[in-house]
Amino acid sequence: MKNNKAVFLDRDGTINVDYGYVHEKEKLNFIDGAIEALNLLQSKGYLLIIITNQSGVGRKIYSLKVAETFRDYFLSELKKRSVKIDGYYSCYHSPEEHCICRKPSPFLINKACTNLNIDKSKSFMIGDKDSDVKCGENANIESLKISDKKNLLYWAKKIIIMDNEKFINK
Ligand SMILES: [Zn+2]
Repeated sequence: MKNNKAVFLDRDGTINVDYGYVHEKEKLNFIDGAIEALNLLQSKGYLLIIITNQSGVGRKIYSLKVAETFRDYFLSELKKRSVKIDGYYSCYHSPEEHCICRKPSPFLINKACTNLNIDKSKSFMIGDKDSDVKCGENANIESLKISDKKNLLYWAKKIIIMDNEKFINK
């Protein structure tokens, strides 16, 4: 049974400030409203799933081990703030490798949906880049784009409103 609902999230530029190839602890700065947004979505029963392109590994800017250490730090910093991430899916390839998992490919979203029994019709993808929106669309998931005026908290609140309306219309 596919009965879970999820919000798929880009990482850099959506949850934390994107300085380009973020992989150092001191470069982890959460964007205003992001923690509140994640807590809100979590409290409404959404699984939180990170879908991130980390081509810095494929480009040999940092190693896979460094990427994984940063991932663990990122997850522990969220946990300290009461945010539990249910899935973390990363593509480590450079564009030149023409892999199957790099966004805008829907591969990682589809993988998460299978692993966690996610109902796509109840789920969303949120990111700051066109490739994030494309990725969600390629997976047939409603996709929302972060901008200066529309941050993660803006979209989290919108999702909750949409959710409530669906409930009322039933
Ligand atoms: Zn890949």
